[in-house]
Amino acid sequence: MILNNALLLVLLVLAVAAGWTLGRGGLRMDVAERSQLPSQYYRGFNFLLDGEEEDAVDAFTEALAVNEETLDTHIALGSVLRKRGEVDRAIRIHQNLLMRPQLSPVQLHQSHLELARDFIAAGLYDRAEQLLVDLAEQSTDFSATAQRHLLDVYEAQRDWEAAVTIAEQLIALAGEAGQPAIGQGQPAEQLRGQYLCELAEAALERDDFDSSRGLYEDALRDQPADLRACMGLANLNLSLGDPMAAFDAFQLIMGSDRTCTPEMLKLLQDICIAHPDDALYLASLERYYTIQKSPLLALTLAAELERVQGAEVAEAFLRATLEAQPSVSVAASLVLKGLDAGSSLPEWRVFGQLTAAEEGYQCGHCGFTGRARHWRCPGCRHWDSIHYRGGALEQTHG
Ligand SMILES: [Zn+2]
Repeated sequence: MILNNALLLVLLVLAVAAGWTLGRGGLRMDVAERSQLPSQYYRGFNFLLDGEEEDAVDAFTEALAVNEETLDTHIALGSVLRKRGEVDRAIRIHQNLLMRPQLSPVQLHQSHLELARDFIAAGLYDRAEQLLVDLAEQSTDFSATAQRHLLDVYEAQRDWEAAVTIAEQLIALAGEAGQPAIGQGQPAEQLRGQYLCELAEAALERDDFDSSRGLYEDALRDQPADLRACMGLANLNLSLGDPMAAFDAFQLIMGSDRTCTPEMLKLLQDICIAHPDDALYLASLERYYTIQKSPLLALTLAAELERVQGAEVAEAFLRATLEAQPSVSVAASLVLKGLDAGSSLPEWRVFGQLTAAEEGYQCGHCGFTGRARHWRCPGCRHWDSIHYRGGALEQTHG
């Protein structure tokens, strides 16, 4: 912090000195600032000599004249303070900017945007929302940026309906410009789908099944095989006693390129138990494995083969998969089959620990790991960026 303050002070001293020199050279600066500048400047030095760095930063900030030439310095300074968590001081700087009549409309809009960012950082969402709604309407240059920040505000407040509206506006704006629609670092179509799934889950909690179904189906509008919406629809149909419709939704997942996970296999198993076709689970696993040759699917299919057709068939299948897709977890399961299951051999414990997918999920964006899937990463706040990687043995391939 001391080093940061020192750097900040050096930058401020230089910026004030440069701004003052420019001002004396005849560039725009009002009379009050012209007379006020030197005293604030020297006051800052006094604070600095007394070791009061925080007050020195404030004094130099006040001494920094606001005009076209120094606007970027104020904005950059406010941004540094906000990132350091000193949001109150960032707000003061940006509110100070907005009181200056000499700024052009574009510069005023830029200052508004910065102030809205400060309010978001401070958790003052109502105040940020008002600024951003005005900006989105009034500014051509900052309209899309304001809408992207509005998504932050609505996500933080879990106002999913408002978030859907903004995502749709971003999609429409980008469509007119022939560009991809980007929300907060992710496609706006994907964000819209996630917000609709949030609404669908909320509808489900109040037993409003029709609304929930409509929202899930709407979520599939731009992404026909979205994992969350497909799983939601499958679960909804299953709980309403329609395993056939649930299986239809699950087939969309099987046809997508999403990695199969234990939770997805549990859903498939539940659907097949409720389904009138007794052979559906085995047939589905066999088809799933032809599409995606993962160790998890191989082991699940082997377990079902063993249950239906016997241990020899299952073992032969696993050995065949080892030839085509070498996998340490499949090899380990074969080794364990040769051991007495009731024994207390340490191999059981070691392999058991390695195959347990304790931290089996990982965010592809920030690397966050966890035991379960979150639709929104707790680490980086990205949507649907957490993927299954399995236990230690599943991550190791021969
Ligand atoms: Zn993440």
